[in-house]
Amino acid sequence: MNALAPDLLDRFRSIVGPKGWSSEPEVLALHSREMRDLYAGTSPLLLKPASTEEVAAIVKLARETRTKLVPQGGNTGLVGGGIPFDAGDEIIVSLQRMNRIRAVDALNDTITVEAGCILQQVQEAAREAGRLFPLSIGSEGSCTIGGNLSTNAGGNAVLRYGNTRELTLGLEVVLADGQIWNGLRGLRKDNTGYDLKHLFIGGEGTLGIITAAVLKLYPLPAAMATAFTAVPCPRAAIALLEKSKKATGGQVTGFELLPRIGLDYVLRHTPATSDPLAERHPWYVLMEFSSGRDDGSIGATMEAVLAEGLEEGLVLDAAIAQSDAQRTAFWKIREAMSGAQKPEGGSIKSDISVPVSRMADFIEQASAEIEALIPGVRIVAFGHIGDGNVHFNPSQPVGWEPARFLAMWDEVTGIINRIATEMNGSISAEHGIGRMKIDSLPHYKPAVEIELMRKIKQALDPDNILNPGKVVRVG
Ligand code: FAD
Repeated sequence: MNALAPDLLDRFRSIVGPKGWSSEPEVLALHSREMRDLYAGTSPLLLKPASTEEVAAIVKLARETRTKLVPQGGNTGLVGGGIPFDAGDEIIVSLQRMNRIRAVDALNDTITVEAGCILQQVQEAAREAGRLFPLSIGSEGSCTIGGNLSTNAGGNAVLRYGNTRELTLGLEVVLADGQIWNGLRGLRKDNTGYDLKHLFIGGEGTLGIITAAVLKLYPLPAAMATAFTAVPCPRAAIALLEKSKKATGGQVTGFELLPRIGLDYVLRHTPATSDPLAERHPWYVLMEFSSGRDDGSIGATMEAVLAEGLEEGLVLDAAIAQSDAQRTAFWKIREAMSGAQKPEGGSIKSDISVPVSRMADFIEQASAEIEALIPGVRIVAFGHIGDGNVHFNPSQPVGWEPARFLAMWDEVTGIINRIATEMNGSISAEHGIGRMKIDSLPHYKPAVEIELMRKIKQALDPDNILNPGKVVRVG
């Protein structure tokens, strides 16, 4: 289906030259579908601009002709934000060719990168300069910085370094009228009015197309201590987190909750994984401390925390990584937990957050309500408990047809979202709103907040050409 006139498509193609577009059905299909197969659409054209000026020319023409654009990075998003709808009247703009590291300023602890840089590429460039870029997520081998910024990605080190918003000092953005806003300032202090970059961070491509960013760098840690720790319940995990923060003076880098059922899924479906502990336990935390000093002190602190935890009944058993390979094996279990749910049938996804102090209450209450609704449901609650964020993903009861279970998606997420909201939480701590949550968001955010979002969208993109139908509905 092609709802856009051929001569219009030619005008877009001529902006980017022969290397900068594709209308191959297989290529378009790849860019019009999300990996979980929850969202798929159609587009007649994929544009791959190579410079900010080309992006600006595309957006100018789109504005002039009222053509809708869907910005896309690595297409690892999970809420349909980078996927066109079925009408075939949207052009996908992939930033993947804009993948240059523009500058590293080691003294200023900053790196300036183009939006299409793969996250791993940025981590490596920082390491080459003797610095750490701490954003670390399961999709880091394919997601892009533009996508990370647009979804305000979190990941495994938020506890210590913050999410993408907190790691960003400046942006370059093509606005909906085709103007280029160069806000690539590497300043930690700049109190000159509204901080505009925050509109585009987490904007999911609805307010502008991000073309480059100045990101913060940190000293590389000299030593890490990592433990795979069995705990009796999420409440004990939170008490152990508190103990860890106190003992390290804020050097807890990762604190991930893993349920036994999730570990069983991983061991069943992920080759080359094994249980780090000899006996079965109900819950685990993957905890990591880091330090700028390689004098054994961080390992000693971890041992002391675990020993105290054992005495107080917060810890049941623990394995401390003795090598990089063992640390990688522990993290592999964590990273495999998302994918390992798929072979177990239908799985209802969520990524809520609540204050850390309410995390255990949330897991207890949501589990009880959903188990009462669906006897035999298998709840996989895992993830960044140290940030007050878990993926609370019920799996279908054994023997059910996936479709029967997935038909309960709205009812189940309704319970999860209600409980999170009652606890002053958020219905999306990580993946964003996209297509998935655009209609549920107004039920959980105050009306005044939704209205403000609408006004911002209308002010910045009055013709609604940038990723329409995502995040907030206008008109
Ligand atoms: P895409 O999927 O291509 O796009 C995402 C959104 O950003 C879309 O709305 C798109 O229109 C917009 N967009 C993309 N680039 C631009 C741009 N340059 N300008 C304007 N808008 C743009 N997320 C987390 O937060 N934490 C995690 O721990 C995490 N773990 C994950 C693990 C796995 C295995 C997978 C598959 C995903 C995970 N995600 C996680 C989700 C996803 O990887 C992130 O949302 C990521 O930031 C998306 O980047 P991307 O380049 O793939 O963006």
